Amino acid sequence: MLKLIGTYLLIMICRKCDASATILIRKEYWYCNTCFITNTNHKFRACLGKSKTISSNEKVLICLSGGAESTVLLDLVHCGFTLNGTKKLRIIPFFLHIIETTTEDSIKKANLIIEQCKQYNFNLYLININEYYSTNNNILSDPNIIPKTKSDTLNNIRLNVSPSIYHDLIIKIKRQLFLRIAKELDCKTVFTAETTTQLAKKLLCNLALGRGSQVENDIGFADLREKSVRILRPMKDIMNEEIDYFVKVKQLSPVYDYSNTEIGLQSVINNFVVDLQDNYPSTIFTVCKTADKIGSNENTNDVKNCTLCQSNITLESANLTAVDATIFSRQMCFKQADAHDDIEVTRNISEDKNPMFPSIYETLCYSCSRTYSELDICEIPHTN
Ligand SMILES: [Zn+2]
Ligand SMILES: [Zn+2]
Repeated sequence: MLKLIGTYLLIMICRKCDASATILIRKEYWYCNTCFITNTNHKFRACLGKSKTISSNEKVLICLSGGAESTVLLDLVHCGFTLNGTKKLRIIPFFLHIIETTTEDSIKKANLIIEQCKQYNFNLYLININEYYSTNNNILSDPNIIPKTKSDTLNNIRLNVSPSIYHDLIIKIKRQLFLRIAKELDCKTVFTAETTTQLAKKLLCNLALGRGSQVENDIGFADLREKSVRILRPMKDIMNEEIDYFVKVKQLSPVYDYSNTEIGLQSVINNFVVDLQDNYPSTIFTVCKTADKIGSNENTNDVKNCTLCQSNITLESANLTAVDATIFSRQMCFKQADAHDDIEVTRNISEDKNPMFPSIYETLCYSCSRTYSELDICEIPHTN
């Protein structure tokens, strides 16, 4: 709303109250600081409310990276506890940070996240990502203690595969660790801090990596691939633009990770989405809203699941796919075909020795099979 003062001065007015506005969201909506914070809290609660599945005093594992989104999630959860009556957030939270490397920077970052949590009187569990390869039943140590890990399997993998593949693998491994630790702490729900902007990036990455059929669980509000633990994304209606304002207005201190300079496919998509957000802010919103409507009609009973990403492995399709065609031409290249032999086009694509897509449709989905082809068998993540 515009207010004319005198002849020349224009003041923007908050769309919720009469105070002068300080924040412009999506180049469209003006808010004052107070109404903006209230509105962001409301979006978080509305998203959780929609699910109507969180029961009172439910144990929830909340995953923190320390970045701006995670810092805001921490504040939103804390704010939920301070409210009274029906508005009070009634969950029992357990906070977790996965340390991604064994470098000093990562340890420093972990210490800063412990401090972040202490300000709200929360404890933080910490775990090194290499624990993923541990065969122990319990991999957690006491809260607020940085675990000592000697293994550096993932760093060795990082040096040997392309950045796009490594990035995709880390996402899958983190997801499996969230589920494993949730089970260890007896939590049936996990919260992650993904925003609309991040989900838009994830959607485009998914499509580029051949994970189109996994969009529903990867981008939607709930990831229900694991039967006993669900992963929820209560910040999916909040954009990174709002995260930045929230951090500024509430003077929060996110832990920025300057060592994390992404290269490869994901960084190209990242730049594209950041540019979209700056110039066409409504587009990101539309992208995610559209993804929300994509559901799969797959029968979820009695289907095989990929051991890496837990998605359904769908083989039964009447038509030959691009994967079939690629495998067929590959097989032809390896065959010393006799010119007089009839070459029969078979769909023998689950052959173990398939050099291009190992284990495809047997234990891995198309996209994971491609990832697998760049890794050693001992490095393949497994479902617990
Ligand atoms: Zn206001
Ligand atoms: Zn998979």
